[in-house]
Amino acid sequence: MTEQKAAERMARAVADIRARMADAARAAGRAPGQVLLCAACKTRTVEEVRYSAGLDIDLFGENHEQELTEKADAGAYLHKPCHFIGHLQTNKVNRVVGRAAMIESVDSEHLLQKIEAAAGRLGLVQDILIEVNIGGEASKSGVCPEGLWPLAEAAEAAPHLRLRGLMAIPPAGAGADETRAFFADMRRLLTRLQEKRYARALPDTLSMGMSGDFEAAIREGATIVRIGTAIYGPRNYGPRP
Ligand SMILES: *Cc1c(COP(=O)(O)O)cnc(C)c1O
Repeated sequence: MTEQKAAERMARAVADIRARMADAARAAGRAPGQVLLCAACKTRTVEEVRYSAGLDIDLFGENHEQELTEKADAGAYLHKPCHFIGHLQTNKVNRVVGRAAMIESVDSEHLLQKIEAAAGRLGLVQDILIEVNIGGEASKSGVCPEGLWPLAEAAEAAPHLRLRGLMAIPPAGAGADETRAFFADMRRLLTRLQEKRYARALPDTLSMGMSGDFEAAIREGATIVRIGTAIYGPRNYGPRP
């Protein structure tokens, strides 16, 4: 595929996703503007990301600190915000805090305290989401639903963190009905978090839904959908050119 063809394909894909997002929002009685499109751009090149940044994308999502640093330094995001959505190793925290507008994948008190310390050193308040392992998969990151509450308390007590809500990745093998039920579970957890009426937290964000299930996620209350394949095409995990 020529570069021109690839760019046209990406532009059409983003327009199509936007239309489907708006339809799903309206079907649920929600305003389309309530749902943000996060381009999950792991493995994509600086050029691909820079091109996509000119399209109707609200923010980017990165899974690895090295990719975030490389693309941010190259100006690939065109000043759109970038969220950290992957498993964050504690030795990478210093390079992610401040660079990522939000860290969506906080799933342990240890990681939470490392982020608090780094944000304190920089004198900023870092927005975070708590990642919930909603499908209970042994291999997945995220806290179990009951583990959410102590982590939320810890975030509320950390002066350089602001808890903005929850993130989840349902099991890849789940059927459509099961996935939708997981999304509904997440919505109920966010409501319970809002009902805590914390003084500092601002839990208005529910990040869920990917290429294969974002419409269901929007119908159940997602405020951010994270989409990779449907924007950029299949990922190639081989050596980068
Ligand atoms: C890769 C990734 C996505 C996007 O997945 P697609 O199926 O390619 O849309 C979303 N969220 C996270 C955390 C990811 O790692």
